[in-house]
Amino acid sequence: MKVMKFGGTSVGSPQRMKEVVKLISDNEQKIVVLSAMSGTTNTLVEIADYLYKKNPEGANETINALEAKYKRHVAELYSTEEYRERTLDFVKQEFDYLRSFTKGIFTMFEEKIIVGQGELLSTNMVTNYMLEQGYNTCLIPALEFMRTDKNAEPDLEYIREKLQAQLEEHEGKTIYITQGFICRNAYGEVDNLQRGGSDYTASLIGAAIDASEIQIWTDIDGMHNNDPRFVEKTQPVSQLHFEEAAELAYFGAKILHPTCVQPAKFAGIPVKLLNTMDPAAPGTVISNDTEYRKIKAVAAKDNITAINITSSRMLLAYGFLRKVFEIFETYKTSIDMVCTSEVGVSVSIDNKTHLTQILNELKKFGTVKVDEDMCIICVVGDLDWQNVGFESRVTEALHEIPVRMISYGGSNHNISFLISANDKKRALQALSDHLFN
Ligand code: ADP
Ligand code: ASP
Ligand code: MG
Repeated sequence: MKVMKFGGTSVGSPQRMKEVVKLISDNEQKIVVLSAMSGTTNTLVEIADYLYKKNPEGANETINALEAKYKRHVAELYSTEEYRERTLDFVKQEFDYLRSFTKGIFTMFEEKIIVGQGELLSTNMVTNYMLEQGYNTCLIPALEFMRTDKNAEPDLEYIREKLQAQLEEHEGKTIYITQGFICRNAYGEVDNLQRGGSDYTASLIGAAIDASEIQIWTDIDGMHNNDPRFVEKTQPVSQLHFEEAAELAYFGAKILHPTCVQPAKFAGIPVKLLNTMDPAAPGTVISNDTEYRKIKAVAAKDNITAINITSSRMLLAYGFLRKVFEIFETYKTSIDMVCTSEVGVSVSIDNKTHLTQILNELKKFGTVKVDEDMCIICVVGDLDWQNVGFESRVTEALHEIPVRMISYGGSNHNISFLISANDKKRALQALSDHLFN
């Protein structure tokens, strides 16, 4: 069985929903994962924000505007009164539920419930549309099977068992539709897999049912060799190794959620990135194959802080790095890049929540310097150390850009540069010109 996931833009209007239905309605059995319509999750976050700020009017106004939009979508999507009415009832019930949060206390728990409503709306709309059109389909609720454990990691055993139960309960259907993004936590409360997490849902479902393939359908024809939001004339990459895809996703290629690669890789299930606007385009296949000696793509990760600790005492001292890393561990702050020298170490982090405490602790060991507003540029491909010439090509491309840190050798697939965020666009363009064009 295949898993097909459609992102926000792909279900972003009634017309787009109809296009999705065309893409999923061959006679092959499949599980279809849908995101919220584009913009909806952002609006739900905005509603939650008003409620945190104790502004029920602001929340109500935003809820009403969103509801009006959904009513228009429903009016347009269905051709029969029966299904229009049925879906409008559901929409009304959803928005009344949202309005109910403007009255009581508001905490993280209520926020989690609110931000997950977009996926409930989109899946209900598409399922009803398919039923109206006579397809052999049903909705399987993600909250019945998608769950994280006490470490907030997906509970794959539970997911496998409960998803199987859902499929058995609805045996004989061709198209199973479910929500991306939403799940329950170990205590049964409504939770989610983080923004952009519908990709993760698809990958977890793929692993749970040992799918033949996981397809991520979006608004672009696969992973491009550079970030199309900043660089002109980027090209789709036809094939990526799981490790290459994971590095690109982690270092900023928004097309794929960083966590999505791992379950598919473990289960050995190929992932395809495909374009709903151009379904015939080949897209990108992510698998265990490596294209020998090839640089594949470049990505950039924003909001990075570099911290440098120098200490004459570090000279030949064992245990120094452990002490430094322990401080980051204490404050649950993960490190992206590390560079060492005889007298010091530089690290980069993307989470500044505990920066002040971390700096205070580090000052006990040496002199500390901080550079904020940095960005990591990551070049990905078959960068095995035995392959000569790659490092020089990449550094040559950046010869006009001031570079704060370079990291190479952590994996066979990545060389990373830390630069000022101001130089990001210029650096990405220079790499494209030098490596690909
Ligand atoms: P969806 O809503 O379908 O999940 P996303 O917006 O999360 O879609 O991801 C698709 C977007 O990712 C594209 O529109 C593109 O702007 C952006 N993107 C960033 N880097 C890349 C890249 N290297 N290749 C392709 N798309 C990228
Ligand atoms: N709707 C969620 C978001 O916007 C999840 C997703 O689209 O993947 O983050
Ligand atoms: Mg996405």
